[in-house]
Amino acid sequence: MRVICPHCLSVNNIPQKDSYNKANCGKCKKSLLDTKPVELSNANFDEVIVNSDIPVIIDFWAPWCGPCKMMAPNFEKSATKFPLKMLFTKVNTENEQNLGARFGIRSIPTLMIFKDGKEVHRVSGALDETSLTRLASQFTS
Ligand SMILES: [Zn+2]
Repeated sequence: MRVICPHCLSVNNIPQKDSYNKANCGKCKKSLLDTKPVELSNANFDEVIVNSDIPVIIDFWAPWCGPCKMMAPNFEKSATKFPLKMLFTKVNTENEQNLGARFGIRSIPTLMIFKDGKEVHRVSGALDETSLTRLASQFTS
């Protein structure tokens, strides 16, 4: 299956397994199991979405948004539960206004989940860690 390296965003092809002890990026050699959310921009957005065989969750946020900042640590903690199961990403809508406009993001934070390159879920408002983890679990097999 194809996965996006959370460090250099290159596409890696790895065997699909139930769990992984170790998996490293063929390009930058760093661990593909690292789960720190990846910043997406207009320049790399489509490439990441299209080339990820695992679902991608996107947090549309902005630096001036209080609830977004409140949710950020929850998002990071939840991400640690889904290495190579779901790719956690963020879009700063202040820098990437075209992406916000493209997806009609009216309020932030808004979470979107893409599976096989298509939007499958969208929810607005800050979520706690438990709700985030439950949400992500619904879209991972
Ligand atoms: Zn890499």
